[in-house]
Amino acid sequence: MKSTITYNVSIAGGGLAGCLLLVAIKNRWPQVVVQLHERTENLCGEHTWSFHHDDVPISLWPWLRPLITCTWPSYEVFFPLYRRKFNSAYYSIKSKDLAKKVLRDYASSVILNSNFNADEADFVTTGWPPRKKQSNYGYQKFVGLEVTTEAPHGLKSPILKDARQPQTDGYRFFYVLPWSERELLIEDTYYSNSSALDIDQIKSEIEKYAQQMNWKISQIRHVEKGSLPLDMYKMKNKNNVNGLGAAAGLAHPVTGYTLPLILQQIEAILKPTTIDLKTSKNNLAHINQRLEKNFSFYRFLNRMMFNAALPEKRYIILERFYTLSEGLIQRFYAGKTTGFDRVRILVGKPPVPIAKAVQQFKDSV
Ligand SMILES: Cc1cc2nc3c(=O)[nH]c(=O)nc-3n(C[C@H](O)[C@H](O)[C@H](O)COP(=O)(O)OP(=O)(O)OC[C@H]3O[C@@H](n4cnc5c(N)ncnc54)[C@H](O)[C@@H]3O)c2cc1C
Repeated sequence: MKSTITYNVSIAGGGLAGCLLLVAIKNRWPQVVVQLHERTENLCGEHTWSFHHDDVPISLWPWLRPLITCTWPSYEVFFPLYRRKFNSAYYSIKSKDLAKKVLRDYASSVILNSNFNADEADFVTTGWPPRKKQSNYGYQKFVGLEVTTEAPHGLKSPILKDARQPQTDGYRFFYVLPWSERELLIEDTYYSNSSALDIDQIKSEIEKYAQQMNWKISQIRHVEKGSLPLDMYKMKNKNNVNGLGAAAGLAHPVTGYTLPLILQQIEAILKPTTIDLKTSKNNLAHINQRLEKNFSFYRFLNRMMFNAALPEKRYIILERFYTLSEGLIQRFYAGKTTGFDRVRILVGKPPVPIAKAVQQFKDSV
């Protein structure tokens, strides 16, 4: 006899995590009724989400690929004494694009202006739980300009770090995505102890950088900014066990990004061959615990960066990091650093006073 059971899955929060989860579930189990509740009138907010090839578990590509706004086959990093090209793909999703595709294909699953009770949801993707105000965060902060150039800019692949710049306010680099022949996103980024952003000042720094690179800006189409808190110690917040993305209290401690973690969480949820919410939720709780465990190493690195290294010397840590193997770098950003990787990252003389480095290590034990 054919089963007549209908499965309903409710998701609270229509940001990055909620939208990806909706698409993933509908692709894996098309018969399931999914309701995605978003309390505002739009999905996804205003962001650009970028990721590396190895951030994506292989089984997720079939439904993730069509959601990508831009793919580049390689990317580069530049430091004062070192540059490197990585022949590995890099991807970005623009939030407006994702929202449009989700509404086009799954309109009947989306309920806008719905402030849903997270305790009643099967999966919670409502963004960051309230964070305690505390002084022991570092920050990745940035201002980005979406610009059109007068002539083709000539940049073929993203520049993930251009740290050949005065190292003011911590480790500082430009990040550039070439959207098309004449469109760029140029971000000026700082790993700083303070969250404060002087937007006008940073805008003029970006214009100066564009001049250095011989890009004549004809129009600034959009300004984006962010100041992402980076944990140095384990947060004491109570995070949601059914949470994905920020709602799980999990962002990569060194980048502040959630996308690679959301993909691992979704992979865990989709594991059962037939829909089985209990197993999916157990899998999610399990992966959240595993990610959290791995994060203590990244938080230690943050303490080294923000508490031990001199602000103007922080870039040296990253310059050395980018000389390591491509696999190690990819695993690092995916939050999958192995024990051997940790040793490789830590060997050598760090550009930090030894007494301060030892103190940060003591704080780990
Ligand atoms: C400028 C900028 C650039 C960034 N770039 C990247 C990047 O490249 N890669 C990356 O991984 N991260 C990036 N981040 C960090 C990024 O914000 C997070 O990774 C990502 O948005 C987290 O997604 P989320 O779905 O968990 O939470 P959110 O994006 O915060 O979404 C939560 C959603 O839930 C809704 N909501 C809240 N409560 C309820 C409720 N009770 N009922 C219904 N709906 C509710 C909210 O309105 C919101 O739409 C960036 C951040 C900024 C500011």
